[in-house]
Formats: sequence, structure tokens, C-alpha cells
Amino acid sequence: MIHNFSAGPAILPAQAIKNSVDAIHNFAGMGMSILEISHRSKQFEAVIDEAVELIKELFNIPDGYSVVFLQGGASLQFDMIPYNMLDEGETAAYLNTGVWATRAVKEAKFFGNVNVVATSEDKNFNYIPKDYTIPADAKYFHCTSNNTIYGTQMHSFPDSPVPLICDMSSDIFSRPIDINKFDMIYAGAQKNMGAAGVTVAIIKNSLLGNVKRKIPTMLTYQVHIDNGSMYNTPSVFAIYVALQTLKWVKEMGGTAAMEGRNTAKAELLYNEIDRNSLFKGTCEVEDRSKMNVCFVMTKPDMDDAFLAAAKEAGISGIKGHRSVGGFRASLYNALPIESVQALVDVMQKFENSNQ
Ligand SMILES: *Cc1c(COP(=O)(O)O)cnc(C)c1O
Repeated sequence: MIHNFSAGPAILPAQAIKNSVDAIHNFAGMGMSILEISHRSKQFEAVIDEAVELIKELFNIPDGYSVVFLQGGASLQFDMIPYNMLDEGETAAYLNTGVWATRAVKEAKFFGNVNVVATSEDKNFNYIPKDYTIPADAKYFHCTSNNTIYGTQMHSFPDSPVPLICDMSSDIFSRPIDINKFDMIYAGAQKNMGAAGVTVAIIKNSLLGNVKRKIPTMLTYQVHIDNGSMYNTPSVFAIYVALQTLKWVKEMGGTAAMEGRNTAKAELLYNEIDRNSLFKGTCEVEDRSKMNVCFVMTKPDMDDAFLAAAKEAGISGIKGHRSVGGFRASLYNALPIESVQALVDVMQKFENSNQ
């Protein structure tokens, strides 16, 4: 058995994979593959409708928000957000907590002014800045809920005087949120809600239509909203995989159940990192992510030996990102606690044989 700790694309529920494979052979009893049918068929329209409803249900999304499926990854959102929401001469506030936030800042500067209200770059992004003020005249405030590469996570969100926009690519549906705090949430699907190729955006309608510039059609949120994510051909199969994943989340008990599972998995691994003399965590304890656990070895030159021992035990995908080094174990929703236990077992065995 392989224990899949990949940071993304990442592990999916077995049931979501099975249902998706079935649909490749015969979708909705049509006798054709989901890869072969029209996105405008009523059977696929039902898939989009169900996925939107499920997202609304899982996050308790009230009226006044739209849910759309887009392409171009979370990275295109770094451009679409300021294109649609920030006029030239206006300022948007950004919190810089890592590589993805840095990229979001870079793109926003193509469209208007950016005020980086705080950054944790001084310590290689190993903490979440807390002492900052969001200017009341900013057009919006942008933050990243979970820093996939550095392994930090926002465990609370500021009371923002301006619309709060959050990149939740690597922890969407991993815990309940208070949707009323957020004006926009977006996520590339391939970390915690499906296969690569689709991005979900949840947008408060009042956020749109407030810039003077002209926006090309495909980059206009309102166009995608008005067309039910079908202005052009959507990522049919990726949306289907996302629906199967979300159905599993619901069956498991929703976001509250996910939070319980994810907390148990993270505690198991962090407790071992803190106990084991050969390992140490790289982030401030209070900001540790429950999704991406980053750690290094306390003795030099043992990385390769540990990776080999882990590989022997079926553990895959724990090599750290090149900008942090060491190891990163991603504990997304679909990863079972048995996989975390397998990793902990290897760490303990490795300590015993390297005293
Ligand atoms: C992976 C990731 C991205 C980039 O996603 P793409 O879909 O590859 O564009 C952006 N933000 C966060 C937090 C991520 O984890």
C-alpha cells in the first residue's frame, strides 16, 4: 500500500476515484464516456448544479454569493481579482505569507497599487504575521489561508474593514468557516477538492461591477456567473471529480468532521516531530498547518537515509519543497490517519536505529 503525502495534485478519496473511473466508461447511464459527451447535455448540467449546491451547503453560503468553476488555476485568480476589482490609482491590501501570496502581490501590481500590510519573509515565511492594520480605504484585503510550501496556516481571520478575499487552495473544506467574514474565496481543486484543471470561486455579488476599466470577456467574473460556468467549455471531467470528492466530504459529516479528522492527523504527526530527537518542525508552533507539515532533521546528512526508509514503508511525496528543504507531509482531507501512523512508525524506527 502507498501512503500518498503529495502536496498537490494529491490524494483523493478512493470512492471519488472509483466513481470517476466508472463515469469514464459510462456516464449517467448514457452509454458514453463523460469524456465524450456535450457539456450542454442535461446530464452534465446536473453535475454542475449539484456541485454548486453542495459547495453552498458545505460552507453554509447564503444568498448574495455566486459559485463558479473557472480554469487557469489559482494563479489566474491572482490576475482576475485585481482586473475585476481594482482600478488604476486604487490600492488593495495584501498579506504576504509565502510564495503564492508573493505571486498574488506581483500580479495585482499590474492593475493598481498594492499595500503589503505585513510579511513573514524575514523568517522564510515560518509564521503568520498578526500585528497589522488593514487600511479602511483599501479596495479589498487579500490573504492566503494555508501556505502549502512553508506549512503555516491562518487559524483565525482578521475582522477586515474592507472586503476579505482568500486563497484557500490548499485547505478549502478542511474545516468549517464563517462565510459571512469572506467576500471571495477561491481554490485550485488539485490540493483538497479534486483533480487538476478546475478552480472554484465563491464571490459575493456586490464585489463585482465596481471598476471603470474594460475587461476582456473570458476574464470577467460576471460572464462566467451569468452563464453558469458554461460561457465556454468547462473542465468537464475535473468538475465531475470535484463533485465526487465533495460528496465524500458530505458523507463523512461535512467540514466539521473534516476538521476533527485533520486535527487528529496533525496532532499525531506534530507530537512525533516534537518528541523525536532526530526531527524538528520548521514553523512557529501556533501557526502550524494541519494540511502541510514541514520538518527537518536535527542531524545533517541524514535526509537521504530517512527518505529511503520512508520509501521502504510505502511512504510517497514527503520530500520538502526546494525552498524549505527537509520534508513536507501533506495531510489533506482524503489522507487516512493510518497513513500518518505509518509515517510516525518509520520516524520512531529510524530514531531507534540511529541513536
Ligand atoms: C498550489 C497553490 C496555488 C497555485 O495553484 P495553481 O492551480 O497551480 O495555479 C495558489 N495558491 C496556493 C495556496 C496553492 O497551494
